[in-house]
Amino acid sequence: MNSTRDKVKERRHSNCVNGTCKEISAGRSMEGKVLVLYTGGTIGMIRNENQALVPFPNVFVKKLRLYPHMHDREYAEETYGPMGPLVLPVSENNSRRVVYSVIEYSPLCDSSNMTMDDWIRIAKDIKQSYEYFDGFIVLHGTDTLSYTASALSYMLEALGKIVIVTGSQVPIFEARSDGMDNFLTSLIIAANYSIPEVCVFFNKKLMRGNRTIKTAASSFEAFDSPNFPPLAKAEINIEVNYRLIFRPCNIEKFNVHSSLNRNVGLLRLFPGITSDLIKAFFQSPIEGVVLQTYGAGNVPANRKDIMDEFRAATERGVIIVNVTQCNSGTVSSLYEPAKLLEDAGVIMGFDLTPEAALTKLAYVLSKKDWSIEMKKDSIQINLRGELSNGKVSTIQDLDLVEAVASSLRISSAKELQELGSILFPAMLNAAVLRRDVKKLESLKRCGADISQQNADGRTALHIACREGDLKIVQSLLKMGASVHIQDRFGRTPLTEAIENDHHEIIKILLQCGAHLHEYACLIGEKMCVAAATGSVRRLKSFQIAGADLSVTNLIGMTPLHFAAIYDKLSVAIFLLENGANASITDKTNCTPFDLAVMTKSNRVLEHLRAYE
Ligand code: ASP
Repeated sequence: MNSTRDKVKERRHSNCVNGTCKEISAGRSMEGKVLVLYTGGTIGMIRNENQALVPFPNVFVKKLRLYPHMHDREYAEETYGPMGPLVLPVSENNSRRVVYSVIEYSPLCDSSNMTMDDWIRIAKDIKQSYEYFDGFIVLHGTDTLSYTASALSYMLEALGKIVIVTGSQVPIFEARSDGMDNFLTSLIIAANYSIPEVCVFFNKKLMRGNRTIKTAASSFEAFDSPNFPPLAKAEINIEVNYRLIFRPCNIEKFNVHSSLNRNVGLLRLFPGITSDLIKAFFQSPIEGVVLQTYGAGNVPANRKDIMDEFRAATERGVIIVNVTQCNSGTVSSLYEPAKLLEDAGVIMGFDLTPEAALTKLAYVLSKKDWSIEMKKDSIQINLRGELSNGKVSTIQDLDLVEAVASSLRISSAKELQELGSILFPAMLNAAVLRRDVKKLESLKRCGADISQQNADGRTALHIACREGDLKIVQSLLKMGASVHIQDRFGRTPLTEAIENDHHEIIKILLQCGAHLHEYACLIGEKMCVAAATGSVRRLKSFQIAGADLSVTNLIGMTPLHFAAIYDKLSVAIFLLENGANASITDKTNCTPFDLAVMTKSNRVLEHLRAYE
């Protein structure tokens, strides 16, 4: 079987017809690209001759192509040809066309059979295709979906794009199914919204993945996020609560941590539990245990025997995390028994769900260069929004928009949100232009989403990258600004930095995971123009951003061909010194040397002789 990367490459190439990239046709920057990893589960199952639900390989995509609301065949075939990706029809909610590709896992898996290896595979597949897509969907069985979502949230470090895990209670191809809405809405959200988190979408709610639990076996409302509000609700409109979005605030590139510690377990206390059972449970090689205690973190205070077992385990270096058996709420040291646990070396997991706690242990314990103290500390630190450790945010008190709203006598939540989306981008942009870091910070504290887009889809980071102030760019990145947002013209902050030749800014954007997003032939066109006009600085900008100096434009010419035609010696020297290939022939079979001869570009000709 081909690797994911090969498939993605194939898919990208299939977008180029007769050497002409159709991406440059009008409006194509308004496409959002989503990769769907179809791992199995009820969502894709079909009834066999005995009416039992089973996954059938190689059927899912074929069937999707037949559903007009999942695939706009006319547009897709005209744009990409018959074997191209799937495309959603345009709808009111998706301002961008959703173009999606599906990778089907083999074998398709009932999620109750999943292991940590499957989580690692999903994480690696996302990494391989990360630069080619705006968002990712994992189609998954519901039974262990929350474990997968929680594990992915930790493994996908410094995530800058959205990952949605979804599935359904009834197969998508059955007449009355929740699968169609779960999948369709996930696609629209993944292509259109900047939410750099691993989420779960189910029954109209987008939830933070590591906050979810499966709460119902036979209801469409199968998942809940008991300790944290939904990130978005998909009713007639999709309403995102941007204040809740957890954005990585480090200058750090997306990375997949692809190992997990398997010596972890879940132990639920029950009245009369024996110390023998606990002793057996904590035997080597166990390294981490999630202990589900009663209520707010209680254990029987009269059971010295079990406390001794906990203490013995923690003294051997086992990390024990205390979480509640209740569906919602947090453990605390309110009652005496919870204090006993702390004395025995058990650490509080606050309001972590059991799934989030177990997968966090597996992640933290696999960090080879962390000391045991660092591992324990990170269990209690909020790594991906998975826990609330008691500090109450004071955002509400400072809410600027609410103050303006009250003077305008606005009260409905919807109007309030609209007001915020008008006021904040303007104020953020003004602060950027004034180079006012303090103002930016105070706007963030007042509830501004630092990545909020204005009417042209531009964010404060777009403006800062155009202006070229490194300090402001750094501040925005540390406040969690997304490097991936494309404005209405398909431009990212990196495009701004390149086209204004801000080299240091390009470097820092790359450190945060930014990458060139346009198709190679379009980048080729821009670099050929730079070469023709003698702009070494612009070529250097592209080089720093990771472009290939031997890239070709639509007619197969490289920047060196243009340097030859226009006799731009400094450009030719720069390109050749940096490894550009001088022997590429264009569509008329000419090398740069041939063109230099034809155009009598003597300076470049002389220089090229050495490379002939
Ligand atoms: N057993 C199935 C699974 O988890 C249930 C489902 O998909 O809802 O794969």
